[in-house]
Amino acid sequence: MAVKGKKAAGRGPRGRPPVTMLQPPALRGKRAAGAAPVDRAGRVRARKILGILEKAHRDARIYLNARSPWQLLIATILAAQCTDERVNEVTPLFFARYPDAAHLAGARPADVEGMIRSTGFFRQKARTVIECSQVLTESHGGDVPADVDALTSIGGVGRKTANVVLSNAFGQPAIAVDTHVQRVAGRLGMATAKDPDKIERQLCGLIPRELWTRATHVLGTHGRRICIAKKPDCEHCPVSRLCDYHRSLASGPGAAAS
Ligand code: SF4
Repeated sequence: MAVKGKKAAGRGPRGRPPVTMLQPPALRGKRAAGAAPVDRAGRVRARKILGILEKAHRDARIYLNARSPWQLLIATILAAQCTDERVNEVTPLFFARYPDAAHLAGARPADVEGMIRSTGFFRQKARTVIECSQVLTESHGGDVPADVDALTSIGGVGRKTANVVLSNAFGQPAIAVDTHVQRVAGRLGMATAKDPDKIERQLCGLIPRELWTRATHVLGTHGRRICIAKKPDCEHCPVSRLCDYHRSLASGPGAAAS
């Protein structure tokens, strides 16, 4: 997956392929069956935006390193309120010490806290990853369920985390609304809601199901590189002509909302 997994070959823990091998192909596909009704012009515009961004960010991907669904689940939990880069600094040693759910389920909280301290909110995260691993060990044989309801029933696992795992580790189309996706989708006018779960539904209605995972990577990468939070680089943005935020800036100071 991400950085490390992208180059990885062979099999991961328990004979599974590294999670990057399960990622869906690049942009292609048809409109989603069962997508929320959205006007055709909105879907066409979304496809146009994603096509342009795909060309601009062909290397877009998930940026957390992981070699199994469980590692990805834990890394995603650790990435809350933290950069993926910082998590990637922590996880090699962490997963060497706790290679699977069974090992982490029996860990002492103080030991886990010490290893993940730099990711912030380390006490809460330590409790979450231990309890999550205990649930997986006791109820799922140590495996991560490939089911959104089962995942989100685990304490500390929300829809974004579940969708990251389902899309990247199991190849299920899903849109994971993180801070970058939320910001870019909002500025581009692809989503008007503030709540991430509602944004997910809006985007799912706009974007063909086959592109959900890829759209997450492309929008997220655009948010990291160009449409950054504090000062978006609209001058060099390939979708500026289609951007509501940019248009509002052009129509007058103070008109834009992030
Ligand atoms: S034009 Fe500016 S605000 Fe709009 S997507 Fe591009 S960088 Fe972001």
